[in-house]
Amino acid sequence: MTESLSDEIKERISENIKQIRENIASAAVKSGRKPEDIKLLAVTKTVEPLRINYAMEKCGIKLIGENRVQELLSKSEHLKLNGIETHLIGHLQTNKVKKTVPRVTMIQSVDSVRLAKEISRVCETLNLTMNILLEINIGNEASKTGFKTEELDESLHEMASLGNISVRGLMCVPPICESPEEISKYFENMSRYFVDIRAKKYDNVFMEVLSMGMSDDYVYAIENGSNLVRIGSAIFGARIY
Ligand SMILES: *Cc1c(COP(=O)(O)O)cnc(C)c1O
Repeated sequence: MTESLSDEIKERISENIKQIRENIASAAVKSGRKPEDIKLLAVTKTVEPLRINYAMEKCGIKLIGENRVQELLSKSEHLKLNGIETHLIGHLQTNKVKKTVPRVTMIQSVDSVRLAKEISRVCETLNLTMNILLEINIGNEASKTGFKTEELDESLHEMASLGNISVRGLMCVPPICESPEEISKYFENMSRYFVDIRAKKYDNVFMEVLSMGMSDDYVYAIENGSNLVRIGSAIFGARIY
């Protein structure tokens, strides 16, 4: 880890963010919304704290997301998190809920009723309520976790009674696609579920956040209704594992 960032790296990060904001703005307008209706979350997995702090202090990033609890915990002491929201966006094991809850403002990757119940149980002991999104396995992929669309209705009924979580919306990572048309179909389907669920008015469920779109596809996601995009490599460069 370096002590300070080179001017070249700083310039690249701020240029990237500026460009992304312009693209977000035009996609928002194209889909009949205002640029400020779309939130930009910077995905910080594998990114060194110096770069993350630069993006937050100098480029107006207010929202960051980590995938892994371990990385979230070990990194957070090096981050300047005043006024910053942190979301967990990767799979959460039930035995890590207790460590995670105090460190995040939202868990986007709730992929089962069992996990939602555990989050609610832990939050009750801490006397707080956690905002969550339901991760939808929109491509019905065997390799991925997440709610299947056909079980959503029943799951929402089950979660309506959990007192210490608040369901704020949906998120997805669609299958790898060959074309914009193909991926747009998945985003469109997500939007449909989002609107349907909102219309049904389940207790404890507020469809406000539709989290979809990453570096390669965020414009299509916004054009199809996303209001929160999660962008990593287009901001910080390719990840080095
Ligand atoms: C890594 C990751 C992203 C960001 O991916 P990029 O292609 O680098 O923008 C977004 N969402 C989730 C859940 C991720 O794991």
